[in-house]
Amino acid sequence: MNTLILKPGKEKSLLRRHPWIYAGAVARVEGKPALGATVVVKADDGRFLARAAYSPHSAIRARVWTLNEAEPVDHAFFKRRVQTALAYREAMVPGTAAVRLIFGEADGLPGLIVDRYRGEHGADQLVCQFMAAGVEHWKAALVAALTSATGCPNVYERSDVAVREREGLASITGVLAGAEPPEALLTEESGIRYHVDVRRGHKTGFYIDQRDNRLLIQQQAAGRDVLNCFCYTGGFSLAALKGGARHVISIDSSGEALALAARNAQANGFEASRAEWRDADVFKTLRALREEGKSFDMIVLDPPKFAPSPQHVTRAARAYKDINMAALRLLRPGGQLWTYSCSGAIDGELFQKIVAGAAADAGVDARLLRRLSAGLDHPMLMSFPEGEYLKGLWLQRAD
Ligand code: SAH
Repeated sequence: MNTLILKPGKEKSLLRRHPWIYAGAVARVEGKPALGATVVVKADDGRFLARAAYSPHSAIRARVWTLNEAEPVDHAFFKRRVQTALAYREAMVPGTAAVRLIFGEADGLPGLIVDRYRGEHGADQLVCQFMAAGVEHWKAALVAALTSATGCPNVYERSDVAVREREGLASITGVLAGAEPPEALLTEESGIRYHVDVRRGHKTGFYIDQRDNRLLIQQQAAGRDVLNCFCYTGGFSLAALKGGARHVISIDSSGEALALAARNAQANGFEASRAEWRDADVFKTLRALREEGKSFDMIVLDPPKFAPSPQHVTRAARAYKDINMAALRLLRPGGQLWTYSCSGAIDGELFQKIVAGAAADAGVDARLLRRLSAGLDHPMLMSFPEGEYLKGLWLQRAD
């Protein structure tokens, strides 16, 4: 039996149910566990703590499968975890066409993301990201459990993520089961049709996490002039158009994303005159719009992760402040700013401080209407606050 023994006192975080074991906490490993193989984790005094997936190359040396000594890690284990995750989505977000079925640690499957896209022409596609050695090791069992629990025969892998390198795993994409995905799958969200390119789009093709926030925009947009920064394939723009926005300017630096966004607008029958798509840099365009004398009723800022790791926090904070200041200055009195950060390294409190600083420097009164987060299909373990990456603030200019 492969065993990982912790240094004295290093069992504390496991006892608080945190699912990661850092390399620095490990005293020694007995046996020769392969990459991703299951190890029994023991305290210095020999007490059982957990069963975990061994990751010899990573600073996160093991990820917990179970804290229950009576629970073996086998095919039945993964079947149960997948079924539980599915039952939760069926109860909480029933009938949702684009849904996150598995959200890593929050579903007891550290390192695994699975999204499901259903839609027109019988489309039904699972898209997976295997981001840690443990889920990679159990890939076949997980794919079998997923296809049998969902009844969806098509599984595509998008394990082309940088974190795999730290796990000693190569980047990989391709069909794991069923048919090759269509070049653009047509799915639906809140009454809007979206094309999703699961093979070449970001993440699994679509930012499913913003579903609830896109619906809020839809509900607020009637008659408004909207600016959507970092629009990708048009998520918030289409929501605003659907909600009756007067005019929407959308900015992104990816021509490919914009092409799909424009195609999405067309697929929903929105008049082309209500939407303007700009292939440009947001930082520069925010300044240019001010010089043009433009102003807006609603602005969305949903940038990429500015702080991919803790070393980037200072520079990222400056970038967040910069765009938020510029956006607040472009808001009409009473106008709304919807501002997001998906940097795990910047927590909600820090993000709020940064935006408050931006408002102060812009010389505007900003009122916080509501804090925003990802949807119910992206829960967070209380013992694992690292799982909360998406933070949003819904603000109103009150001066
Ligand atoms: N809000 C989107 C997701 C945004 S993802 C949705 O709901 O679907 C972030 C986007 O920012 C990507 O499409 C990327 O191409 C774009 N991007 C990154 N840096 C940029 C920059 N400096 N200027 C404009 N767009 C940028």
